[in-house]
Amino acid sequence: MLHQPADAVVVGGGVIGLGIAWRATQAGMTVTVVDDAPGRGASWAAAGMLAPVTEVHYGEGQLLALNLAAAGRWPSFAAEVEEASGRPVGYRPGGTLAVARDADDIAALEDLYRFQLRCGLDVQRLRSRECRQLEPGLAPGIRGGVLAAGDHQVDNRALVEALLAACQRSGVRLVSGRVAELAVDGDRVTGVVLAAGGGPPAAPPAPSRPAGETLPAGVVVLAAGCWSGRLGGLAAEALPPVRPVKGQLLYLRGPASEPLCSRNVRGLEVYVVPRGDGRVVVGATVEEQGFDITMTAGAVHDLLRAALELLPDAAELELAETVVGLRPGSPDNAPMLGPAGPDGLVVATGHYRNGILLTPVTADAIAELLATGRVPEAIAPFGPGRFAAAPGRRVS
Ligand code: FAD
Repeated sequence: MLHQPADAVVVGGGVIGLGIAWRATQAGMTVTVVDDAPGRGASWAAAGMLAPVTEVHYGEGQLLALNLAAAGRWPSFAAEVEEASGRPVGYRPGGTLAVARDADDIAALEDLYRFQLRCGLDVQRLRSRECRQLEPGLAPGIRGGVLAAGDHQVDNRALVEALLAACQRSGVRLVSGRVAELAVDGDRVTGVVLAAGGGPPAAPPAPSRPAGETLPAGVVVLAAGCWSGRLGGLAAEALPPVRPVKGQLLYLRGPASEPLCSRNVRGLEVYVVPRGDGRVVVGATVEEQGFDITMTAGAVHDLLRAALELLPDAAELELAETVVGLRPGSPDNAPMLGPAGPDGLVVATGHYRNGILLTPVTADAIAELLATGRVPEAIAPFGPGRFAAAPGRRVS
């Protein structure tokens, strides 16, 4: 069957693909999203921390600037998504308290604190007693902490559902299927070719398309998370060098009236994110295991032990769910955003640990690129071409 080309086809309906599709449609474009399980990748598994300050790392200055810009966008972005979808996204400005259990932790925390100060970040060093005043559930042995008052959270699962609803309301076409390859004509990407035997129907229900069908498009946006390097149609070197980084995470549940803690609490080995409705997220492992998604007994043990060392009352909560997700990792931990090699192809992936945080800036910048053809300044340092000449590059 011959289809009218969409202005853009987005491969992948995680927070990144859905955010871009929604924004591009608002800008007047016709957009199709292809995914057989939209919103059920890393975007579902994540903890939802919006934490540029506590997640800061040495040598990632440009990424820090992008992360801070994203954090600043969150209050209005959350309000806009809620307005457009009619659904809450669970944005909770509560801050994050990083704490130390022993002398080694204190040394590491001090080191991080001094680095955060050098970066001009808003952090406050707290004594043990001050930490426990903020969070009475902390273990008595906690030696001190650092408060990042601007590191907040969003309920990433509510966000996914709201973005899906916003896309549907704004006229994005959701196609349930898997893209097998990019359709290429000469030097130009002209659409996508669907794979045989897609997965279960997308939620909410979306039309399935026959295998082998081509969906033509003015531009293809590759936003398939850690799977973005696995499409046919182009040489592997022309696809983004993204890899899966496994994360295992737990949901605990208790009475909403007796919260375990009131803000995000982090140790060196674990973070605890209270949702405000009794759910508590405990995460997460960081593992280079390829596409393995086994939930392991060791991870459950390690996460619970570390969480209980910080907040002993967690022992009373129900272990409600175990989750595994695959972060889209990039060679320098920063996202790959912008035109990629052949005409007609735009990449938006590699968001690694910060894809929920980076959703507003990614969606806005890529939608602007699609509408104007110009790369917005905010994402200029993150072009996918920066890895083109990297020796020993691997697409796994
Ligand atoms: P995904 O959500 O993985 O979406 C990719 C989509 O592409 C999927 O729906 C998949 O079905 C689809 N797809 C794949 N291949 C194809 C194909 N061939 N055809 C069609 N569709 C395809 N980030 C934060 O900001 N804060 C956090 O606290 C945080 N915690 C995390 C904790 C864990 C355990 C994990 C795993 C991640 C965490 N992250 C966090 C990172 C964040 O989840 C990711 O960076 C973000 O979700 C990436 O979004 P995405 O849309 O690129 O990928």
